[in-house]
Amino acid sequence: MSDVVTDAELLAAADAVAARAYAPYSSFDVGCAVLARDGAVIEGVNVENAAYPLGICAEKTALARAISMGYRPGDFVAVAVTASPCGGCRQWLHEMKVGRVVFRNGGRVVVMTPDELLPESFELPPG
Ligand SMILES: [Zn+2]
Repeated sequence: MSDVVTDAELLAAADAVAARAYAPYSSFDVGCAVLARDGAVIEGVNVENAAYPLGICAEKTALARAISMGYRPGDFVAVAVTASPCGGCRQWLHEMKVGRVVFRNGGRVVVMTPDELLPESFELPPG
C-alpha cells in the first residue's frame, strides 16, 4: 500500500516534473513528488514571480495541492525534492508529518526525517 514507490522512483518523478517549473528569474528549476499512504504521487514545481518574495517552492506547491485534493497531515509517506528544502519548507514538512524527505544536495542523495531537518520546529502551545 505505502511503499510500492521506492525513494529512487519518487526522486525520479521529482526530477521529471522539475521540467515544468516556472523559474524565469533564477532558472533554478525545482521539482517535488509527494508519496501519499494510498500510493498516489502528487507533484509540484517552484513558481516564481516578478516580485521575487512572492514565488513559492516546489514542496509547498505539491503539499498545498495534496491538501486541496483532500489529504491531511500524516497522509504522506515520503517527499522527494530535487534540491535541499529551504528553512520555510522544513517547517511545512514538519507540519505535514511527512515520514521521510529524500533530496539532492550537491552530488549526494540525502534521506532525513522532518525532525532531523528542523529540530525544535515551531509549534503552538497546547490549549
Ligand atoms: Zn522552500
